[in-house]
Amino acid sequence: MLDLLAIAAHPDDVEQTCGGTLLRMAEAGYRTGIVDLTAGDMGTRGSPEIRVAESAAAAKILKVAHRENLHFPDARLENSMAGRMTLAQRLRELRPRTVILPYWEGRHPDHYRTAELGYEACFLAGLRKLDQYTEPHRPYKIIYSSLYAHVIPSFVVDVTQHFERRMQSLLAYRSQYGEVSDGAALFPDEPEIRERLSATARFYGNLIGVKYGEPFVVKEIMRVDDVVALQVRSL
Ligand SMILES: [Zn+2]
Repeated sequence: MLDLLAIAAHPDDVEQTCGGTLLRMAEAGYRTGIVDLTAGDMGTRGSPEIRVAESAAAAKILKVAHRENLHFPDARLENSMAGRMTLAQRLRELRPRTVILPYWEGRHPDHYRTAELGYEACFLAGLRKLDQYTEPHRPYKIIYSSLYAHVIPSFVVDVTQHFERRMQSLLAYRSQYGEVSDGAALFPDEPEIRERLSATARFYGNLIGVKYGEPFVVKEIMRVDDVVALQVRSL
């Protein structure tokens, strides 16, 4: 049973986009988890085995209670019936209340397919007759991680206290970001990674008056019960 589950296309996607939020929620006492759909087998560096091992190390840093990899085909991910059913089964077993998906538009086809596949799997998971062995479960809320989407977020989570640890979780992918000569022109080194990540997190943090933030989009309107207690200063 999880409170919060992030579903991502590739190992290290979560670390780049919403790892601070997962860590913050874990530290608040929630049970968090990550399901990566592919193991990055088309990646220039490393191998699926190495990346899955690195993702387990990153999961520890982010204090997630559960992480698994479904080993769907990388770089040619399809929103297939088999894929939706497999993910729906996992949702019925993990039973998250809230699910984080990547934003539904983007440059990499795997990312927007994950958004679509994830949304449809959440729907399927709620159907009683999907199978007779597991109880139906439809997540209550889906939020979309929009860090790379260049859209106005619905809300931003303050991850100022969690930013450095999130950085460590990304650097746990030694095969991708370590000192390797293989594909060096394609892959940024550690100082460059640090600068990029902090510049983006500063930008979103600025929007809510804190140092570092992570942006999300929701399809529903956000409800407010107390307008006197609203945060983020106007003047
Ligand atoms: Zn990715």
